[in-house]
Amino acid sequence: MTLPASISASVIDRLKSAVGAGGWTDDPDLLAPFLVEWRDTWRGTTPLMLSPATTAEASAVLAICHANRIAVTTQGGNTGLVGGQIPQGEVLISTRRMKAIRSIDPLDDSIIAEAGCILTDVHAAAATVNKRFPLVLASQGSATIGGLISTNAGGVHVRRHGMMRALVLGLEAVLPDGSVFSELTSLRKDNTGYDLKQLLIGAEGTLGLVTAASLKLVPVPRAMVVSMLAVESAKIAVELLHRLEERTGAVAAFELINHTGVAMALKNLSNVKDPLAHTKAPWRVLVEFESSADGLGDLAEEALGEAIEAGLVIDCLISQNEAQAQDFWLLREEMSAAQRPEGASAKHDISVPVSQIPAFLERADAVVESIVPGCQIVSFGHASDGNIHYDVVQPPGMEPAAFKARAPTLIEAVHDVAVSLHGSISAEHGIGISRREEFIRREPSAHLKLMHAIKSGIDPHGIMNPRVLI
Ligand SMILES: Cc1cc2nc3c(=O)[nH]c(=O)nc-3n(C[C@H](O)[C@H](O)[C@H](O)COP(=O)(O)OP(=O)(O)OC[C@H]3O[C@@H](n4cnc5c(N)ncnc54)[C@H](O)[C@@H]3O)c2cc1C
Repeated sequence: MTLPASISASVIDRLKSAVGAGGWTDDPDLLAPFLVEWRDTWRGTTPLMLSPATTAEASAVLAICHANRIAVTTQGGNTGLVGGQIPQGEVLISTRRMKAIRSIDPLDDSIIAEAGCILTDVHAAAATVNKRFPLVLASQGSATIGGLISTNAGGVHVRRHGMMRALVLGLEAVLPDGSVFSELTSLRKDNTGYDLKQLLIGAEGTLGLVTAASLKLVPVPRAMVVSMLAVESAKIAVELLHRLEERTGAVAAFELINHTGVAMALKNLSNVKDPLAHTKAPWRVLVEFESSADGLGDLAEEALGEAIEAGLVIDCLISQNEAQAQDFWLLREEMSAAQRPEGASAKHDISVPVSQIPAFLERADAVVESIVPGCQIVSFGHASDGNIHYDVVQPPGMEPAAFKARAPTLIEAVHDVAVSLHGSISAEHGIGISRREEFIRREPSAHLKLMHAIKSGIDPHGIMNPRVLI
């Protein structure tokens, strides 16, 4: 594939020299891994990948693209689930060479990390000053700070620490014309005008290239307890969440998994263990408690014991060591992998107000069963934020193609249920390419008008991630 004929060889040479010899490639073999999404849902093409190593190089690249109307797609760790990072003919800008931790300040509780830093590297850097960056998600070994900011990632600690938006103190980004927005502050309070960094957070790469961020650190909790519970219904799980929060003040994560998901993981994955194998129950809840106060283990045990006595919990196990805690988490984290051997699936990342989770599940189950009788519903997710990954897996024996033909109807119906309960069709993964059409159809026109005004004001030639979001 070549760049559009209207782009002269001298412009291409300028793009290449802006990043230096080690900063570009057009070799199809080297490009291949950057052109496929991890689930293989999206595949793309690009004539050229540019990997700036500094903000100045990124600025030079975008200035050239802006002046010559060259469309770009930005990519970080390529773990996004809605296809926004896979180019469809655009020049690909990768942040893989922008990996420096620029500074850590334990007194300001902040760290400045470049866009290409992997989340686990930020965790490790924070630990060197006995602090923690509290964003935790299953893709943390590959997802980058720039990608996490651009998708406003969530993860398992949102109720306690907020989404990425709440964890960014300051930002540095290259705007589409090559100018640099630089506000790498560690201020907690600053009411001087619009909070411009928030425009770039969750913008999915449509308004600029994030190059670095100042992130909030928090104290490392002195104790952590992970427990796996068996409960009768999602309604009871919601009641339990509030009860455990009130009783302990220490609930850090509260994840819900249905029986079908647990059974599928045990059937299809050899690395997964079921800590409550002897208990038959429709739902599992994984609760992580954390605290710096003494006696967390006793407190959690007392609170869970009372919940058992009150009839809310059928059975429960508290991890006795780190390895056991990891086993509990593995069962939750492997929910997507567990579905793969079963064939085709339709996935959802919905949110509803926490109180409406039971109603959502009841109504969505009924509507889905009426569209594809016998389908296998795997419901799991960050229940303390009302975020359910509601995955509908094809019935055993059905032709995958026949199921895929029904998938758009299924997705529409599940989203209708979420919206009818004042929920969202994308809780944390974003819109990207996969939800774009539906988002535009469902979003109120006043919202779209405002978004277009922002987009055209900042990116008048529409060069940044042109097929994404709006
Ligand atoms: C196993 C697994 C579990 C996951 N769990 C969660 C979860 O719990 N919560 C959650 O929120 N997400 C989750 N995700 C989704 C994903 O990890 C997040 O969306 C993550 O934020 C993407 O980061 P990335 O670096 O891989 O970005 P990419 O996938 O490379 O890009 C994602 C989007 O951000 C844009 N982008 C990337 N870098 C920049 C930049 N520097 N400047 C501007 N735009 C940029 C891209 O153009 C694209 O639109 C999961 C994914 C996987 C594979």
